[in-house]
Amino acid sequence: MKFIDEYRDTNLAQKYSKRITQITTRDWNIMEICGGQTHSIVKYGIDKLLPSKITLIHGPGCPVCVTPIRLIDSALKIASLRDVIFCSFGDMLRVPGTDEDLLTVKAKGGDIRIVYSPLDGLRLAEENPNKQVVFFAVGFETTTPATAMAVYQAAQRAITNFSLLVSHVLVPPAIEAILGSPKCQVQGFLAAGHVCTVMGYEEYHPIAHKYGVPIVITGFEPIDVLQGIYLCLQQLESGQAHCENQYIRSVEQQGNSIAKQIIREVFEVVPRQWRGIGEINRSGLGLREKYASFDALERFAEELSSINSSYISSICISGEIMQGCKKPYHCSAFGKECTPERPLGAPMVSSEGACSAYYRYRSYQG
Ligand code: SF4
Repeated sequence: MKFIDEYRDTNLAQKYSKRITQITTRDWNIMEICGGQTHSIVKYGIDKLLPSKITLIHGPGCPVCVTPIRLIDSALKIASLRDVIFCSFGDMLRVPGTDEDLLTVKAKGGDIRIVYSPLDGLRLAEENPNKQVVFFAVGFETTTPATAMAVYQAAQRAITNFSLLVSHVLVPPAIEAILGSPKCQVQGFLAAGHVCTVMGYEEYHPIAHKYGVPIVITGFEPIDVLQGIYLCLQQLESGQAHCENQYIRSVEQQGNSIAKQIIREVFEVVPRQWRGIGEINRSGLGLREKYASFDALERFAEELSSINSSYISSICISGEIMQGCKKPYHCSAFGKECTPERPLGAPMVSSEGACSAYYRYRSYQG
């Protein structure tokens, strides 16, 4: 298939593997920030093509995995209300809240719809004027422009029965939080190509300089990831640390100015809780005052006031996995008590979650 096969070329992968081995002189830890890249690495065995001196650390770049428990519980509460149509991407339905998940609420009669775009939610609001339609806005910078557009259009068209439960998070503050941790072992980053397609990569230059780590904007196909690792190693081995773009077929330094404009119009930067990690300053997006009437947390404040989030699995180590301190197979529940059918933690639910990727492609250790 054109534009896909060339990025899965076995001979080219072997060549990159050889080049990487030739230039690697010592141990290096490289983190791929995005769950899509983790999926690719585990699925295609990219880590197996690397010399043993290189350790790939899986980062927290799965938005489903980092959505805080209180927001999941808020989603469960809102979705179970009469006269509410609750819209969500499909991968949120199995994420465990304190007592249950959205799939269970749906089985009990909650009107939960899987949609492919927030604009589908807006259409449902127009078609059902007697219902409150709530869209669960989860995602990194990649999904934010469509969410912003839905709210913008709702405001323009005076659609008042539409609102958002917002859990949008931002990648650069997460990278800074990881690098600022005293436990940090990461020496180089593969940043997420799709995020930078929207936002560009100007923000990454000062981070690379401040912390002295190479950051390579990288795509998701096997050759992309191998080339990203190669570029990162070239910098590491020569003592350089700057931001570099591997994903040139999609990413430009400035990003997509129209997408950024609609994001800026609707959202402002706020602190955000990351499940398993904690609060990271300026790492999320919240609705601006001008669009506050579309905030489901405000609209359903009374119903949500009794929420008492307390889900803690005593064996789930997803926080340590998402910070790159442990691998899924270090969890005693991996593949036993915790499977994609019966997940104990979010990283086993999402296809971008590290636990799910290891379960699907490597149900053995490593
Ligand atoms: S395998 Fe399951 S229980 Fe273990 S860390 Fe992953 S999600 Fe949590």
